Amino acid sequence: MRDSLTVTIDHIRHEAPDIVTLYFTRPFEFTAGQYISVYFDDVDVPEGKAYSLSSRPNDEFASITVKDVGGPFSSRLCAMRAGDSLAISRAYGHFNPQTDSALVGIAAGVGLSPVWSIISANDHAKHTLHFGNITDSHIPFHEELAQLETRVEHYITRQADTIYHHGRMEVTRIVAEAEAEAHYLICGSVDFVRDIFRQLESAGISRKKISTEIFFEHS
Ligand SMILES: Cc1cc2nc3c(=O)[nH]c(=O)nc-3n(C[C@H](O)[C@H](O)[C@H](O)COP(=O)(O)OP(=O)(O)OC[C@H]3O[C@@H](n4cnc5c(N)ncnc54)[C@H](O)[C@@H]3O)c2cc1C
Repeated sequence: MRDSLTVTIDHIRHEAPDIVTLYFTRPFEFTAGQYISVYFDDVDVPEGKAYSLSSRPNDEFASITVKDVGGPFSSRLCAMRAGDSLAISRAYGHFNPQTDSALVGIAAGVGLSPVWSIISANDHAKHTLHFGNITDSHIPFHEELAQLETRVEHYITRQADTIYHHGRMEVTRIVAEAEAEAHYLICGSVDFVRDIFRQLESAGISRKKISTEIFFEHS
């Protein structure tokens, strides 16, 4: 039998035209960077689908941040309202390296969720975040990122007049600027994660110092 619990959506925040954060009272303890499964009984996916917790373990509310890709889960989640119920699992996952080393987060779009949860949970001054989005208005957690002591570098791929860096991440520069003992966290689509992973290895970073979480087949 499925081990699920039901939570009620307390409030919602629209992060970007296609990204929504759903907040609910935290029903369990979890480790920053973990994910939950979401279940809809009338959708024929009994195992549910995974969503990273975008909140930190000590935040008042737990949250998931969802990109609407037009499928049965994301569309429904992005259309939810305060007061709606949601069936979820407990938290799983080992993306968090649980290290005292400086962290270098490398994320694209909604892939920020677990990276944000880990980097912003504590000691954020010593970490760095490289964050890619298609336009300035597609950046989730934009205001919170500006308030972090973490150095955040934004990369915008499809808007030439961006106030941020226009174009893709330069992994050799990211590595050159990072501490030698830094641990790298990569999250996004399979293509994004694979590409950055290979570039980190080519730049001499050991696999032991790279943690990955893959969200999507396509980005
Ligand atoms: C460990 C883990 C954590 C995850 N965490 C999150 C999270 O925090 N937030 C989140 O939004 N999703 C997350 N996902 C992805 C999520 O589980 C679903 O796969 C996603 O929401 C799509 O489900 P769907 O039923 O809406 O669409 P599907 O029916 O699965 O997909 C519909 C179509 O959209 C395509 N597609 C899927 N993703 C994208 C995309 N990003 N851009 C363009 N096309 C796409 C599919 O290939 C398919 O053609 C996570 C996945 C894993 C494995």
